[in-house]
Amino acid sequence: MDLLQQSMCYVRIQQPVLRGESSSLNYSVYLGSKIGASHARMTSKPMSLELILGPMFAGKTSALQTIIRRHQALGLSCVAYKPQIDTRYGEDEFIYNHDHVKVSAQSTQKLLPNCNTPEYVAARLVIVEEGQFFSDLVEFVTRAVESDKKHVVVAGLDGDRYRKPFGDLLQLIPLADRITKLTSFCKVCADGTPALFTYGRPATQDTVCVGGADVYMPVCRKCYLSLTG
Ligand SMILES: [Zn+2]
Repeated sequence: MDLLQQSMCYVRIQQPVLRGESSSLNYSVYLGSKIGASHARMTSKPMSLELILGPMFAGKTSALQTIIRRHQALGLSCVAYKPQIDTRYGEDEFIYNHDHVKVSAQSTQKLLPNCNTPEYVAARLVIVEEGQFFSDLVEFVTRAVESDKKHVVVAGLDGDRYRKPFGDLLQLIPLADRITKLTSFCKVCADGTPALFTYGRPATQDTVCVGGADVYMPVCRKCYLSLTG
């Protein structure tokens, strides 16, 4: 099972919880084969904002890879940004690599200065990884979507290790067309229980979730309360 399949399975686990819910914010989930149709619709829709939220190890990068692949299949140009603070391993070293075409996430401290680059101007799709780390996230996304008419997808942690809103990411919820919350698997239960939260081991005092599996782990609600209670 590859990462994409895993992330889709995580969403299937959420189905009983979210099915039938429909709010003015258009909360929705990608369910199995519907992921293709959903992305196809978003692909053809400029001036739109999609948020992909969830704890660490929930497959957010895999979801971004799917979106980029669909845009590339249509010949649409993409640009991707990630914070310079994110120096993790493996999954986040690149966003997409297929048929020798590699879409690297450009490391940047601020997002707005990139608006003057040829890559940004030409891009139809703008990806922001780990959006919670950017101090100019809301201003950049608002400009990209509503002034520059991009399709913007922002992925990141909705909550920090204390389950508090992380950075400015949640300020984008009222502006979004589509919001997806992915789950991981609880590392403690280790039986497929969906993990909603990112638990930081006691030795780690920082709020910023930059570490890997040695520092943080995804946990379910029951285990989070047990570990922190
Ligand atoms: Zn658990």
